[in-house]
Amino acid sequence: MARDMDHERRAAKAFLRQAADFIWPPRSLVSRDRGAGKGPLSPAEFSRIRFLDGAVCDRCGMPLGVDTGAGGVCAACIARPPRWNRARAAFVYDPQSRRLVLDLKRSGRRDGLATFGSWMMRAGGALIVEADLIVPVPLHYVRLAGRGFNQSAWLARTVARLSGTPMRVDALKRTRRTPTQGGLSARARKRNVAGAFEVRKRSVPFVAGKRVLLVDDVLTTGATLSACVRALKQAGAHEVDVLVLARVVRETDVTI
Ligand SMILES: [Zn+2]
Repeated sequence: MARDMDHERRAAKAFLRQAADFIWPPRSLVSRDRGAGKGPLSPAEFSRIRFLDGAVCDRCGMPLGVDTGAGGVCAACIARPPRWNRARAAFVYDPQSRRLVLDLKRSGRRDGLATFGSWMMRAGGALIVEADLIVPVPLHYVRLAGRGFNQSAWLARTVARLSGTPMRVDALKRTRRTPTQGGLSARARKRNVAGAFEVRKRSVPFVAGKRVLLVDDVLTTGATLSACVRALKQAGAHEVDVLVLARVVRETDVTI
């Protein structure tokens, strides 16, 4: 009997070690320290990231003050429902997590992708399981050529690979180049991207009648994602859910 318990305890510990490896990055993504023990996203750095795995609004993924059970919706979404069906984010975009996002978005640092993918899998569980197709938010081809990468496509590909869900990286395209959303008000952001996306003709058959999971790096006001959802719906998508790495929770954090 004692032996069985020992065995169980050992198995549980092994599982926890594996889970820690799965969630913790192999190298510091924040301080850039190397060799600071195992997985130099140090325990302190890791503990400052606010993961959105508690009770969140079913429509927008915003943390809810009280757990109203599955399917709870926040007051903002009741007043003005978003264009998408459900949105989830892995963690809160704030001064503690900003570096992680900017390293990916601006510097094209890829070594966090596997970790980010696993965090998004955890946050997006049901959305991923139910999705027929994963589609990233696209960059305009001129910007893509200048930068050389689309971090949303990287995240989408990682989630697609981890979950085995089909992905079409170029299903959506930007029909015009839009100024960056940074520093714009919510209203200006909406105007900026209105009608700026469409589903490529050859991708329409893959989108029509399907549950699409739209992937982006950060949800700020949701203007870009809404414009993408609209384009997917126009192409006949049955439902569109949204999965992002991080989301802004307070207006004052909208600096990206
Ligand atoms: Zn909401």
